[in-house]
Amino acid sequence: MELLQYGFMQRALLAALLIGLTAPAVGVYLVQRRLALIGDGMGHVALTGVGVGLVTRTSPIWTALGCAVVGAILIELLRTRGRTSSDVALAVLFYGGIAGGIVLVSQASGSTPTNLDAYLFGSITSTTTADLLAFGVLAAVVLLVTFGLSRVFFTVGADEEYARASGLPVLGLNITLAVMVAATVVVSMRVVGLLLVSALMIVPVAAAQRLRRGFTGTTTTAMAIGVAVSVGGVVVSYHADLPSGGTIVLAAIAVFLLAVVGSGLAAALRQPHREAEEHLHDHGPSCGHPTVVHGDHVDYVHHGHRHAPHGDHYDEH
Ligand SMILES: [Zn+2]
Ligand SMILES: [Zn+2]
Ligand SMILES: [Zn+2]
Ligand SMILES: [Zn+2]
Repeated sequence: MELLQYGFMQRALLAALLIGLTAPAVGVYLVQRRLALIGDGMGHVALTGVGVGLVTRTSPIWTALGCAVVGAILIELLRTRGRTSSDVALAVLFYGGIAGGIVLVSQASGSTPTNLDAYLFGSITSTTTADLLAFGVLAAVVLLVTFGLSRVFFTVGADEEYARASGLPVLGLNITLAVMVAATVVVSMRVVGLLLVSALMIVPVAAAQRLRRGFTGTTTTAMAIGVAVSVGGVVVSYHADLPSGGTIVLAAIAVFLLAVVGSGLAAALRQPHREAEEHLHDHGPSCGHPTVVHGDHVDYVHHGHRHAPHGDHYDEH
């Protein structure tokens, strides 16, 4: 591992690990809510923050975070209104963000087109020790919040009406999730890039959905794929002299295509069977559901259905 003797590679690999973990951890809720493109919009808004940081000579991480968080709150408020005018308002916000960023970055002294490319598409040589500390703090906050609130985030995503009726603060939770997406966009700023981070939030989750059932299984598998493609992408981009963000996203898409083909083949070979959908409950000896012996196994009677454990899911019997 001669590449580990370079300080910039150690930092790039650690930054890749952090974004590989956090992007799918928030992305799983965006996929559930059919908001796959929101992260992309926040990346656009964060670019204005980068421009502000470069022009005012402050750390672009914190100015990008400020802009992305303000953008996240605006996006969430516009989205709740759900009218055609809010669709246009979102477009104005996203394009305004990227246009503002490009103009501001061009005005910053000492910045070059290569510099802008690194922010948009990632580069392995740009992560500093200070960046890494900031990414570590942001990633820890994102992971603590998404895991701590996973049950309520899931409930809101599954059925907003029900969540509201049962007294959950739906708008507050949606804004919290949007702010976590904003923080994740900022963690992506070095090795993946602001224009490509959204792919890392969505594609590993889409691949994991082909391989695993159940929310927890999908989330952990997506995070494992996220880490593998980001760290692997950084290594390949070092050896092949390729831009890291594009390499990472292409690796994620390759995993997704393999998962589609693999799960299709597996389904064709398997015995036909019906899976219980969205099964959040774990059946067990003390779960209270009546049991029925069925051939060589036990079925649990659940809402008039008979569920039999099969791998990581339940089948309808
Ligand atoms: Zn049960
Ligand atoms: Zn059975
Ligand atoms: Zn069941
Ligand atoms: Zn099954």
